[in-house]
Amino acid sequence: MGVFEELKAEISKCTRCPDLVAIRTQTVFGDGTTAAEVMFIGEAPGADEDKQGIPFVGRAGQLMNLAMKEAGIPREKIFIANTLKCRPPENRDPLPEEMDNCAAFLAAQIALIKPRVIVPLGRFGLERLLGKDLKISEVHGKPIKKDGLYYFPMYHPSAALHQPGLRDNVLQDFKKLAKLLKREGLL
Ligand code: URA
Repeated sequence: MGVFEELKAEISKCTRCPDLVAIRTQTVFGDGTTAAEVMFIGEAPGADEDKQGIPFVGRAGQLMNLAMKEAGIPREKIFIANTLKCRPPENRDPLPEEMDNCAAFLAAQIALIKPRVIVPLGRFGLERLLGKDLKISEVHGKPIKKDGLYYFPMYHPSAALHQPGLRDNVLQDFKKLAKLLKREGLL
């Protein structure tokens, strides 16, 4: 087994968050290969992701697929992960201690994939990766260079499902991401 598969197997056996272990169908490791140069980091699996074991396959994922298609970004270029690998009950927000419990898994994924661009989707990914001081409404769609790589925060696609006014922001930000990727020779 390769290191990546070993990490996946370790995550699948994790029992650190009792509330999450009690209701999960399975852990959701992520989707993509270690060759990906771009990583998307969402919040946590929802009901569809928990059933299928794949991130972003529900309604938020459908909007993400549309935004990627319109921006000309192929899904195979991306590794898609979440701050939590288990679904929170009733899709509630991840708790800080749950994100702490899962942080080493996300860090290990980033260390193995070594992406050139990391896209935090929504405030949880943003907070974990860049700290609590940044507001997604202020930094979305703008590259931030840090530690030799780009962070490119975006609204979470599900925000646009709840607030239709944000849909255009989501679609535009994916186009801006495509421009950055082209400029960096990644697309
Ligand atoms: N929302 C997320 O943040 N992650 C998923 O995998 C699906 C929906």
